Amino acid sequence: MKENFSYLKDVLGVKYVPKKGVKVPAQKNLEDSLKSQVKSSEQTLKAEIIIEQKKNHKTSFEDPYASKNMGELQKMVSKCFECKLSKTRTNTVFGSGNTKARLMFIGEGPGADEDAQGLPFVGRAGQLLTKMIEAMGLKREEVYIANVVKCRPPENRKPQGDEVGACENYLFSQIAKIKPELMIALGATAMECLLKTEEKIGEKRGKVMPFLNTKLLITYHPAYLLRNPPAKKYVWDDLKVAMKELGLKGS
Ligand code: SF4
Repeated sequence: MKENFSYLKDVLGVKYVPKKGVKVPAQKNLEDSLKSQVKSSEQTLKAEIIIEQKKNHKTSFEDPYASKNMGELQKMVSKCFECKLSKTRTNTVFGSGNTKARLMFIGEGPGADEDAQGLPFVGRAGQLLTKMIEAMGLKREEVYIANVVKCRPPENRKPQGDEVGACENYLFSQIAKIKPELMIALGATAMECLLKTEEKIGEKRGKVMPFLNTKLLITYHPAYLLRNPPAKKYVWDDLKVAMKELGLKGS
């Protein structure tokens, strides 16, 4: 099967052209061939990260835990020790809301309030998210809210790649079970987890894009809005796009 390696050209600035009549080498050999043409170690490292991300990038909507219902999945998460965040958490924060929601929000990870209560988005950023949901003409309990990682990163740092990798199948299972019409990824970490991209959030936000068997819109995280109130106008623009997609009139 012919594979598309155009992403490597973007990253490495080189194009792989197999010689006429020569069978395209296996992915591993092709990657080695491309990487050998890269001069700087920084480029090589970046290429390796992208290759790894693309290998893991999901293209079909398979539920990684199809045999489990939502309650069983939540129980599994509550006993999860798959990454180092398990050592510092107080509670796992699985997600909450309507498991048949048309709209699902995906944030980065629990903060101190969420870790203490075991619920997502209950701190100041959560209160702002509730206002955003209500401005769209919905009640918070009508949507579903989850995070990329289910345990709090210490000092509210950004979750690391190995932590996201260990945890993301729980999120993909939640998405597969809920089957939302639209997902709104809040912030760069959620965007990077779902799209496996290094692009800037400012370039990706505000557009409804097909994603697996559903649709995805990217916008800024409410915590960012607390630090940068002028960005609220961009988020409101993005929410209006989401409302149009879902046929909502707003409050
Ligand atoms: S963050 Fe996710 S993978 Fe890591 S221990 Fe918590 S539930 Fe498990």
